[in-house]
Formats: sequence, structure tokens, C-alpha cells
Amino acid sequence: MLTVFRHCRIATCDPQARVFDRGAVLLRHGIVEWVGPEDELPAGLHADRTIELAGRWLTPGLVDCHTHLVFAGQRAAEFARRTAGTSYADIAREGGGILGTVRATRAASEDELVAQGQPRLQSLLAEGVTTVEIKSGYGLELDAEARMLRAARRLATEHPVTVSTSLLAAHAVPPEFAGRPDEYVDTVCRQWLPALAAHADAVDAYCEDIAFSAAQCDRLFGAARALGLPVRLHAEQLSNVGGSQVAARHGALSCDHLEYATDADAAALARSGTVAVMLPVAFFVLAEKQLPPIEALRRHGVPLAVASDCNPGSAPGASLLLAMHMARRLFGLSSDEVLLGVTRHAARALGLGGRRGSIAAGQAADFAAWSVDSLDEIGYWAGFNPCSMVVKDGSIVLERDV
Ligand SMILES: [Zn+2]
Repeated sequence: MLTVFRHCRIATCDPQARVFDRGAVLLRHGIVEWVGPEDELPAGLHADRTIELAGRWLTPGLVDCHTHLVFAGQRAAEFARRTAGTSYADIAREGGGILGTVRATRAASEDELVAQGQPRLQSLLAEGVTTVEIKSGYGLELDAEARMLRAARRLATEHPVTVSTSLLAAHAVPPEFAGRPDEYVDTVCRQWLPALAAHADAVDAYCEDIAFSAAQCDRLFGAARALGLPVRLHAEQLSNVGGSQVAARHGALSCDHLEYATDADAAALARSGTVAVMLPVAFFVLAEKQLPPIEALRRHGVPLAVASDCNPGSAPGASLLLAMHMARRLFGLSSDEVLLGVTRHAARALGLGGRRGSIAAGQAADFAAWSVDSLDEIGYWAGFNPCSMVVKDGSIVLERDV
């Protein structure tokens, strides 16, 4: 079945960054066949279905490349303590923070994890998100990590979304291994990775002085890559302990946060082709002061992505649009950078470059239509959603009056 979307302004987000003022897209079986100016559509074209967009903007479906959206419970009481002055790191050292969510998540069944993750996923889908990365990391025991990853994959079978899963067993040292992080990392490398490899598209870790050292992440990444799993890393969020260099050495798909990264770190990420993922909601919620080295990342040509970081501690909420606004307001990204950061570069951060994240021949027909006058409005609205249609693999899966 041949479908044509016509009368739209199109930001393809492809490597040529083509923009069409009055454009059209042809697609068949969920794959884009052609995109270009409407007046270059083949004469006498007979489409089985025509979607008239009345001048709306069409972008690739958005890609949220860093979320922890499968978890149980919430941490509102901890947020209250943090707003009253206690630091995130101090709460973590007391056994709260991530470990608080671990207790709730271990007690939840797979069905409960799916049910609690669903409204957060739906909030993202309504914003034009068609691909989401979801991490484990609140189980921290083999069965609970497996349950989280299965819940993440189930969300994809029950909703019109592509889910990419990351095993984040190295998120925090579980209570069973308190004071023995090396033993924990060895257990993950030797037993958990082989057991969970089939459930995970990548392996992630939290490299920080309240979590895992650069040497521990290095060992974990060596074991992951020996199993053919790509890696990504939470690095240099609260301090610089050398995570970016480890990520670069292992050719990580992405390195995320990076507030304390240096010029040398940016250069290393550029050489390894690693995407730098900006997480401004966490920066905002933790009231951080240290900005990521955006100028250095730009100068070295590191691709920049932006993600929601949806999680119950440092980014409670599920809005990629808010993250985009904050990436502009707090980090100074341009509207073009932010749009590429939630499309082509975000897809690359998930190893999906060339398949999703752009509107181009041969790519999946994932689109979002926007009731906005200009592309500058992408990342301008804060707390308002101008997305009016979502297309997933060629099917219209959501329409909203805006
Ligand atoms: Zn995270």
C-alpha cells in the first residue's frame, strides 16, 4: 500500500539537513520511499492513501535515548529533603536515593512494572516520541534486573514504540554487596551478563564516586563487548572520575551527563564517534551549577543528543519536550541542535542510525507532525505540547487537536 503525506513543511534531519517548505513523503510497508518537494512528486502518482497535513511541520518521530522509565514507586519525600538542602550524594550514602527505588522495584511483579511504566511511556508518545531507550538498574539482583528488561520489552509489544533496552546492573552497589563493589562487578561480568544478554540491546553503567570507578566500568565493558553487546555510560555528572575516557576506549555508543567532562574528554569522545547525551532535567532538578562543556563538544564535533532521563530521583517526569526546552535555556543549544539531538543523533546513540531518526528513503516511517509556525518553536514551549499527529512504522497512531 502506497501512502503519501502531502502539503507539509518537512525537516528531514538527514545528514544533508534538508528542509522542504512544501514537501511530501511517499511510504510503503512502513518504510519511506521518497521525500522531497511536493511539486516533484511523480506525475500521475496513484497513492492508496493520501494524508493532507495543511502546512503543518513534519519531523522524524522523536527518539528519547536515555530513560529509566520502568520502576516502582516514587521519591517525593526525598525530593522534599533535597529542596530543603540535603544533597543527592548524601541521600545516596545513607542508603536512600537509587536504593530506595530498588526496594520498591524488587517488590513489584513484572505486570506491576509494566502498569506503572505505561503512563510515563504514554506521556512520551503523546509528544511525538516513537523510540525510547529503557534501562534496568533498580533490580540489582539477577531476577529483578531480568524482570525490568522484560517489562521494558513488553511495553514495546503493547504500544506503538520501538524500545531499546540497556542493562544497568552497575547503577549502584546493591545492599548484598555493600563495601564489595569489585565482587559485585565480577558477579555481573561472569554470571549476569551471559544470563541477561538476550534481554539487553546494550550495557550501561554509572561511573561516579558514589557508584562505580572507571576501572570497574572498564572491566564491565570488556565483558560486555566480549559478548557482542555495545556499551554506554553515565559519566562526569557530579565529578570527573575518568568515565568518558573509558567510554571512548570502548567505542561507546553514548556518554551521558558530562557536566564535569574536560576538553580532553570531548576530544576522546569525538575520536571514538561517541554521542554525548545531554540530560538537562537532571541538571535542573539537582540544582547543579557545573554546565557540560558544550563549546568543547561542538568544537571537537561530538554529536549532541538530548534525552528526558525519566527517573524517580533526578528527573521525575516524562517529557522530552521539557528536556528540549531546558537544553536550550540552560545549556544554550540552538533549536537545530536540539532537534537533531532528539532525532538523528539520538538514534545513533542507540545504534539505530540509518534506520530511524531521519526522514529519508529506506528509513522507518516514524514521524511527528507539529502545529507550529516555525522550527524555532521546537524546544521553545515549556509545559505545552504542540504535537498533533504521530506516525509509527507508517501507521497513524495518535492524533490530537492542537
Ligand atoms: Zn540515567
